[in-house]
Amino acid sequence: MATNKVISFPIKVNGPHLKGKTLLIPEMNRIAANLLAATFRGFGVRAKVMETYKGMDLGKEYTSGKECYPCQVTMGDILHFIEKEKDSLGDSFNPGDYIYFMPEAEGPCRFGMYNKYQRIVLDSFPGLRELQIISPSNSDAYSLGDILEENQEQDFRKTAYFSMVVSDVLERLLWKIRPYERESGITDAFIQKSAESLAHAFELYGRRKLFGKIMNKVEEIVREAKNFVDPAIPPKPLIGIVGEIFLRMHDHSNQNLVKILEKHGAEVVNGSICEWVNYVSYDGLREAKKEFLLNLKQLRLRPMTGALKNIFDFGGDLLYKEFRQKKVYRQVRNLVDIPEDHKISHLEHSLQQSDLFSFDLSTEACLSISSIVEFAKGGYNGVVNVYPFTCMPSMATSAIVKPFLRKLKIPYLDVPCDSTIQPGREATIRTFMYQARQHFNHSITRC
Ligand code: SF4
Repeated sequence: MATNKVISFPIKVNGPHLKGKTLLIPEMNRIAANLLAATFRGFGVRAKVMETYKGMDLGKEYTSGKECYPCQVTMGDILHFIEKEKDSLGDSFNPGDYIYFMPEAEGPCRFGMYNKYQRIVLDSFPGLRELQIISPSNSDAYSLGDILEENQEQDFRKTAYFSMVVSDVLERLLWKIRPYERESGITDAFIQKSAESLAHAFELYGRRKLFGKIMNKVEEIVREAKNFVDPAIPPKPLIGIVGEIFLRMHDHSNQNLVKILEKHGAEVVNGSICEWVNYVSYDGLREAKKEFLLNLKQLRLRPMTGALKNIFDFGGDLLYKEFRQKKVYRQVRNLVDIPEDHKISHLEHSLQQSDLFSFDLSTEACLSISSIVEFAKGGYNGVVNVYPFTCMPSMATSAIVKPFLRKLKIPYLDVPCDSTIQPGREATIRTFMYQARQHFNHSITRC
C-alpha cells in the first residue's frame, strides 16, 4: 500500500515525527481548516491554520503564472507565514520546527505537483530545506500514518471526517439563513462565533470520539440561527455551485462569489468538501473492483488478493463515511431544511443515465457534471461553475454542460478566476441572476 509522501529531499523522516513540531495547515475553507486543526490539537499535534491570501504577491513572485491558481495561493500562504514568523522570532526562528501539510492527488491533474513545486521553491531559500512538507495522497484515501502514532490513526480519521461533515453542515446553514436574515450581517457573525466554539469542542471531545457532545452544540447553533430568519422575505431563486474544490471553498480566490450571488437575489447551494472526500474512497473501491475482476479473468491469485484487500479497505472506509454523514444530516435536517449531500453512487448512476460523461474519466469533472444533472432534476434556477483560469476538468465540464442546460433552459455561468479583478464580473453575475429570476418566476407560474 502506498504511504504518505514526506516531500523533503534532504531529510528523510520515518515514524511519528511531529513531536515538538508545528503542523501548518493551509486554509481552503475557513471553517473546515480550523476544525481540522482543532482535531489535530486534540490528538496532541500542535497544528495551526496559516493566514490566507495575505502573501499573494509572494505567491505570484515565486510562480511563473502557468501553475494552477490554488498552487499560487498556497505558495503565497506558506511564504508569508515564514516571513512573518521570521520577523517575530528573529534568530530563534528554526524552519525545522515546522511541517507544512499539503495533500495531493494522483491522476491527470496537476494537484499532485503542487507539493513538488513548492518543495523546489522552499529549497531555493537558505535554511528552508529543513521545513518538511507532508503530503497525504488519494492513492491510499489520504492515510495519515506518517503524521500520527499508529494506534491513533483510525480514531483520528473518523474524527477528522466528522469535522468535515460538521463544517459542511455549518456552511449549508449559513447559505440557508443568510439570504433571509432580518438584520444584515448577523448570520455571518454568528457562524464565525459558532465555528470557534465548535473548534473548541473538537479539541476537547474529538480524541475520545464523543460525537454526541459535539452534535448537541451543533443542534444549539441550528436552533439559534433559525431565529435570524425574517419570515416576510419571500423565497429566492436557487443557484447551485459546482467546480474546482479549492475555488468553490476559498472565498478570497473566488472573490466572494456566494455573497455576490446573494447580493443579487440568490439562495445558494455550493458543493461540499465531503463530496470530494467520499469520492476518493468511492473511486478507490471502483478501481479495486475492476482490478479484482481483471485478475480473476486471468487467474492471477496474488494480485487478486491485493485487490480484495483494497476492496475491503476502501469499501469499509466509504461505508463508514456515508453512515456518519447521513447520521449528522438526519439530525440537523430534523431542525432545518438544509439540502442533503449527494451520495457518490447516486451521482454515478445519474451520470450514466444522462450519458454525458463517465466516472471512468475521473477528475472533478465527473462530480461537477453529475451534480449539475441533479440540480436540473431538483428544480434549481441556475448553475454556476467556478474554477481556476485554465483548469482542465472544469473547462471539460463547461463544454459538456452548456448544451445540456441550454436545452433545459436553465441559466448557466462560467466563473474562471485568477487573482485579477475582472471589471465586468459583477455585471455578468447580475445578468445571470436576472435570467435565474425569470426561470424562478416561470416555474412558480407553472406550479
Ligand atoms: S483541478 Fe484544475 S486547478 Fe486543480 S490541479 Fe487540476 S487543473 Fe489544476
